[in-house]
Amino acid sequence: MRVALISDIHGNLAALEAILDALAPFDAIWHLGDVVGYGPAPVEVIDRLEAAGAVGVQGNHDAAALGEIDTEWFNDAARVAVEWSARQLNDRARHWLAGNPVTRVDGDFTLAHGSPRDPLWEYLYSTSVARANLAAFATPYCLVGHTHVPLAFRETAGRIEAILPQDGTTLVLDGRRTIINPGGVGQPRDGDPRAAGALLDTGSGTVTWRRAPYAIAVTQQAMRAAGLPQRLIDRLDLGL
Ligand code: ZN
Repeated sequence: MRVALISDIHGNLAALEAILDALAPFDAIWHLGDVVGYGPAPVEVIDRLEAAGAVGVQGNHDAAALGEIDTEWFNDAARVAVEWSARQLNDRARHWLAGNPVTRVDGDFTLAHGSPRDPLWEYLYSTSVARANLAAFATPYCLVGHTHVPLAFRETAGRIEAILPQDGTTLVLDGRRTIINPGGVGQPRDGDPRAAGALLDTGSGTVTWRRAPYAIAVTQQAMRAAGLPQRLIDRLDLGL
């Protein structure tokens, strides 16, 4: 089975369409949360994922848009955007979003937004945090998002190795415990403004990272029309 791995779409429909085109063909979509927040098209993104039968987990922005967590932990721009997103959601979109659990296990894979031990909030950036999370999932592999940075951490004989994938990098899943982050679709933060994602091939046991350019100006124009914060509009050009 070929699975499109995507995370942190953040209401950016143009970026979502571009990364799905780059990852095609695939049999399933697994998303790692933060479907909404920041971007101008939360309902359209949910509609697209629902139509494609995507399954996944809730992120902190999703939970905030649903009113399940307080936005006092968000910075000003993020709070303005998530409160705007919450007002856009219709009942159907809210129902779909609420149907995503905070963690999910599918075969050899555990899905969580931030980390398996603290799914909504923890950033899995370092080998020490990766090591501390190995006991928090029972499967060989764990899929996370939240940092908006493509990354993998693999355990070899008690050591944790950090892998920084580029466009086209393939990792063989050989049974060593590995935490995989496909990068962010709708608001990349690794200095590359292109949408990020990865293709999991369970048959060959590989993950391949991809980047896809998209019409950033289209998303920015929609954000301007929605009155979303300028800082969020500007950062899409930088990929930061
Ligand atoms: Zn996010």
